[in-house]
Amino acid sequence: MNIILFGAPGAGKGTQAKILVEKYGIPQISTGDMFREAITNGTELGKKAKSFMDAGNLVPDDVTIGIVEERLSKKDCENGFILDGFPRTIHQAEELAKILEKQNKDIDKVVVLEVRDGEIVERITGRRISKKTGKIYHIKHNPPVDENEEDIYQRDDDNETAVVTRLAEYKNQTAPLFDYYKDLGKTVIINGEQEVGKITEDILKILNSL
Ligand code: ADP
Repeated sequence: MNIILFGAPGAGKGTQAKILVEKYGIPQISTGDMFREAITNGTELGKKAKSFMDAGNLVPDDVTIGIVEERLSKKDCENGFILDGFPRTIHQAEELAKILEKQNKDIDKVVVLEVRDGEIVERITGRRISKKTGKIYHIKHNPPVDENEEDIYQRDDDNETAVVTRLAEYKNQTAPLFDYYKDLGKTVIINGEQEVGKITEDILKILNSL
């Protein structure tokens, strides 16, 4: 099962991807997570990505497409994968189609998590993450047991200034992909403003019928 999770920053892609990984035993491929890992490890890739990410801009396509191609060719993607945060531009989507064609694969569904703009900023600025488990929390809606725990951190780009840029990037560069995949008959829209469990239920209904 080859899936793209699509939606604005903070729409809940990462949260749902982690649940689907458990459910189907296929990997989550999050370009954002891959960049953050590269930054933590101080690699060349991390150095290239950091300034774009911190400002809330997209990392250039030439950098991004290469890492996805490499990741998709790994053995654990043979039975499926969940793309989270990729593609984010039409060019990325076109390149993805070429990569998958070479590997004799295709995208089965593009799961669109729909959340209104007003909700996004509140979600992102309140987001906290566990370093150890990668689990995603929200200071109000889903607080970690101990907010001051050393393990809990806030992403460098989860601040109000970067969020404004991230939303603008989404509108200008990423949102047009909705029609791209709709024309291919691959999109399914899920209400992303429900409880986490209800969203999962809606997604599973779709995926289990594939
Ligand atoms: P969110 O979806 O909440 O914005 P991500 O972790 O997916 O979080 O992305 C964080 C940042 O990583 C983006 O703002 C961007 O700078 C970079 N990034 C992630 N995926 C891509 C991509 N496919 N193309 C370009 N930049 C990306």
